[in-house]
Amino acid sequence: MADTSPEPFRYDAEVDPGETRHVRYEIGETYLGDPVEIPITVVNGEKAGATVFLTAALHGDELNGVKVLQEVADRYEPSDLHGTLVCLHVVNVPGYLAQQRDIPIYDQDLNRSFPGRERSNTAERMAYQIYERFISQCDLGLDFHTSTRNRTTMYHSRADMSNPAVERLAEAFGANVILAGAGEDTSLRSVATADGIPTITIEMGKAHRFQRPLIDKALEGVESVLAEYDVLPDESVTRPGWQKILGGDQEKRWLRADTGGLVDMQWGPTPLVHEGETICAISDHFSTEEHVVEAPFTGLLVGVLENPVALPGHPLCHLARIDSETHEEIEAEIDSGEFDGYRMLGVRWMGDGEEAE
Ligand SMILES: [Zn+2]
Repeated sequence: MADTSPEPFRYDAEVDPGETRHVRYEIGETYLGDPVEIPITVVNGEKAGATVFLTAALHGDELNGVKVLQEVADRYEPSDLHGTLVCLHVVNVPGYLAQQRDIPIYDQDLNRSFPGRERSNTAERMAYQIYERFISQCDLGLDFHTSTRNRTTMYHSRADMSNPAVERLAEAFGANVILAGAGEDTSLRSVATADGIPTITIEMGKAHRFQRPLIDKALEGVESVLAEYDVLPDESVTRPGWQKILGGDQEKRWLRADTGGLVDMQWGPTPLVHEGETICAISDHFSTEEHVVEAPFTGLLVGVLENPVALPGHPLCHLARIDSETHEEIEAEIDSGEFDGYRMLGVRWMGDGEEAE
């Protein structure tokens, strides 16, 4: 790549090498006939190299990635880059305006609508334009999500680790936990990957919030990816101290409530729980009955309920089994203080800690 000359980034228009352009790209219309516009930043480097897309808020209330993209788009200058960054700051604009996951009209899930079609429903039309104009011009991608509302998720990536190109990207991004799998057929990640554009999803924390420690981790991950693909040839790839790749379904399980009542989460401060430890207790309003939910095996809590009330069948937490080797690595890191950042995040996952400090 080094001795090829840089090219414009082309969508309906062209962004020349050496140029940063902020675009409001029309993707549809409101009932009033006003344009619905996606904010997009293209930073085309002075030198040739990979074109990387970053997407946030495909689900309109998942905000951590929006902050990540704002900072990525501001952080890198064309003179820094051997390649191009394409930041789609808010993909699901109607959902973002309503602060909800789906497109408000008929509750269509934009991330189940790719690659889209030109003449179809609202979501597929939007997906089509986004994919055709921007995504299909890229070489690799990072799609940022959070948990859905009333839950929270451990910071992790999702990647089809059976695809070597995706594996390279996920390793470079460097999340401690990678959930391996192809994903839903009509998600942006799956469609782009199948199309030869390796893409991973990053899941980080909860909806409706900016969670600074997670945003900082994601910025580090982006920089590491840009280093791996020589978009930032002077930077080096960051490898995490420990990493767990979670494969098939037997390794992770949603623990569900068997009784209705009030939930008291008792795990923490790290997401490591040991077999038999209490994760939470569910009590009735008279405090006469209490059902304790214990960890059925030693593992990592990768997702936790935040809604403090539960019904029978309601998911409480998502527990991923870890082997003894990973367990020892994590315990050693806890002992040495290497895990302190996670300890702090652990507290944050549990409640409303962000505003408290
Ligand atoms: Zn999402």
